Amino acid sequence: MTKGFRTAVASILLLLSLAACATAPGTGRSIFTGGLSQEGEKEMGAKEHPKILAEFGGAYDDPKLTAYVESIGNLLVQTSELPDLDFTFTVLDTPIINAFALPGGYVYVTRGLLALGRNEAEIAGVIGHEIGHVTARHSAERYGQNIAATIGVMAAGILVGRPGAQAASTIGGLALRSYSRDQEFESDMLGGRYLARAGYDTAGMAGFLSQLQEKSRLDAELAGQPGKADEFSIMQTHPRTADRIEAALAQSGEQSARGDPIVGREIYLEKLNGMLYGDNPEQGFVRGRAFAHPKLRFAFTVPEGFRLYNGSRQLSARHPDGAAIIFDRAQKDYDGPMTRYLQSVWAKDLRLSEVEALDIDGLAAATGSARVNTRDGRRDLRGLAIKYDTDTIYRFIFVTPPEQTAGLSEAFRRTTYSFRRLSEAEAADLKPLRLVLHRVASGETSAGLAERMPFDDFRLRRFLVLNGLAEGAPLQPGSIVKLVSE
Ligand SMILES: [Zn+2]
Repeated sequence: MTKGFRTAVASILLLLSLAACATAPGTGRSIFTGGLSQEGEKEMGAKEHPKILAEFGGAYDDPKLTAYVESIGNLLVQTSELPDLDFTFTVLDTPIINAFALPGGYVYVTRGLLALGRNEAEIAGVIGHEIGHVTARHSAERYGQNIAATIGVMAAGILVGRPGAQAASTIGGLALRSYSRDQEFESDMLGGRYLARAGYDTAGMAGFLSQLQEKSRLDAELAGQPGKADEFSIMQTHPRTADRIEAALAQSGEQSARGDPIVGREIYLEKLNGMLYGDNPEQGFVRGRAFAHPKLRFAFTVPEGFRLYNGSRQLSARHPDGAAIIFDRAQKDYDGPMTRYLQSVWAKDLRLSEVEALDIDGLAAATGSARVNTRDGRRDLRGLAIKYDTDTIYRFIFVTPPEQTAGLSEAFRRTTYSFRRLSEAEAADLKPLRLVLHRVASGETSAGLAERMPFDDFRLRRFLVLNGLAEGAPLQPGSIVKLVSE
């Protein structure tokens, strides 16, 4: 091989690598981006932004809260390696707890995540971490490896609805899962750097992680599966532990400001006062075992032992022993008998037995059952379709392992007939939950305050997790706590 030819090969290789790689401003590391320039990143983010809004309930309509989150974000950006990149910070109107970033500086936090935070430093830690994903160009790198498929994967995630990675975590889990452990470490390192430079208490980073862990434990308990907290965690496959965050902070080369680093507890809590908590009325409310939709005007109740999860495309109820109920809305102009809809339209690929026409609260309906093979083994399905108005059909699928079918049939029948229309007055009576602040008076206890919250179960645990308090620790008179109120 001549020297000239070798040089030519080398320069072609160099050209190829230049086309696909770029240097990440945050880390100075060379990364594969599929040839995406910074303008390309911005364009990609701008294109995906409306899809994220559509998938996660839209932007939460509270200009003051949004301005506050923007101010925290922009303060951190100014300390970063990309101080001139125009970032877009959005609070998403969903109770799902998550934060993520798109290429080009689009950073999202959900109101579910804000509700869980205890102070400004914790939320700054979350936002700083996401800014780190942008400045390290992880999101661009991710798109480079698997261009633009992410949104499709996320949308599929909701429909898969696996018992562990439940509604609340599924979508977000997938969005976060695409990063490697090394990338998470890098983002913690960068986020910690921005946090320290902006004058925040860097302990906020690990502080929010512990809030997330407590929330995962609570979600597992609520689902009747204590001890399976890992399955309810948005950190499922890429664990960030307190140790790793400490190591990342140590490597960031920055330290918390001497003297009094910013924690910002009271100012943070004040911004949350009155914020919507849990489901948005547009998505219907879960209240214990009942589901009510004030806008679409219907309600029903699931059997004892089932827990309801309100996803953006469907509602599901699950029993820890494996039975499930899946509910959705089909908008279809269908005029024939409901038994035919069931057999020839909805379940046309199944051979249904026990097909029966029903009258539910004066509405035409039909039910039928089938046994199917799934990845998890044999399952009995019972379909129920209720014609609500000219173009709306509500549908239930009751799913049971065969050995539980007989035992649950009476309970499922009660759920079937619990479906009813809501009157205008009933709908108007349904108020969303909100976060409210309460200043602790002397003599008040966690147990006493928890009793004020409108939940059927686990009131004290919910109160403690919401406020990041240890069980049995006395409340400080004069301090502010979060409560959920109707
Ligand atoms: Zn991350």
